[in-house]
Amino acid sequence: MRDGERAGGGPADESVPPDEPVPPADAFELLGHEIRLATIEALAEERRESWLPQGLGFSELREAVGVRDTGKFNYHLDQLRGSFVNQFGEEYVLTNAGFELAGALRAGTFDQTDGDVERHAELDRTCPICEATLEAVYEHGYLRVRCPEHDRILTTTLPPAAVRGREMATVVYLANARTRDQVERVRAGGCPHCWGRSTVRAPAEPSEAYLRALSDRSGRDTEEREIEYDHEGDAVLAECACEDCGMTFWLPVSVCVAHHPAVVAYYHDNGIEMDGDYLDMEHATGSNGTVVSEDPVRIEVEVLVGDADEALVLTLDETTEVVERETVPADSR
Ligand SMILES: [Zn+2]
Ligand SMILES: [Zn+2]
Repeated sequence: MRDGERAGGGPADESVPPDEPVPPADAFELLGHEIRLATIEALAEERRESWLPQGLGFSELREAVGVRDTGKFNYHLDQLRGSFVNQFGEEYVLTNAGFELAGALRAGTFDQTDGDVERHAELDRTCPICEATLEAVYEHGYLRVRCPEHDRILTTTLPPAAVRGREMATVVYLANARTRDQVERVRAGGCPHCWGRSTVRAPAEPSEAYLRALSDRSGRDTEEREIEYDHEGDAVLAECACEDCGMTFWLPVSVCVAHHPAVVAYYHDNGIEMDGDYLDMEHATGSNGTVVSEDPVRIEVEVLVGDADEALVLTLDETTEVVERETVPADSR
């Protein structure tokens, strides 16, 4: 039995190891050909049918790609083995690396030729702070939800496929879902960028470079720019840092616990269904969060909606885990 070949035929739902693994630089070099990209897409179609690693025989695959010359097709297919394609007996199957690549190609992540997708729309919702109508702007792969007064409410990256053919309100909803994924992943210890080991630590000050970048992009007059972190007025932040790739970013502690079960239940009890949208969460904006103890670190986040009788108060430790919660009369806050 050859490497990668198993008794009993197809790969079914088992993992797909590469035949003879090749390093990333070699793998990427192999992609520079239309026939190879088309081969990856044809095999991705097979995996998409069931999310299982199913493949095609040589002739089926050659026909799906549309190459007549058997020798020529065989040459290109052979180049992909060991990185993006694996052979099980008579069947060729896309590896996980190939499947990820196919998804990113469909999403337009690598496509700079298709014209820049630019969208701009006023949203049917208002700023949680000042009630001005929010606008959503998508350009160069970035989605920003902005208040004319308070600047950015939400910023995230999205590939073109997330925007095409959708209402901007839906795009914003998707962006929220993505942000939620990323917040949950980093708090679980996985870097949203590289899956490396990440830590979350609060309270933290953002770097000067980060503050300057925010200030530069806000487009306000130089005089008005504040590049100092204001301990009194600004949100209490948690620093999320990856030990492996070094990516670092800062989140308000109120956002870190936005989907804590007690918060979801509190909103539910007050007639608001939390479905992943930070824009609906009054507590997850502004400067919510108070450091009440430094050793050990204890940070209070208050959740209070509209004219509710009670407020929910969460106490967080330095990793933003909730260590205590209580409800208190709203008028005591
Ligand atoms: Zn505003
Ligand atoms: Zn990382």
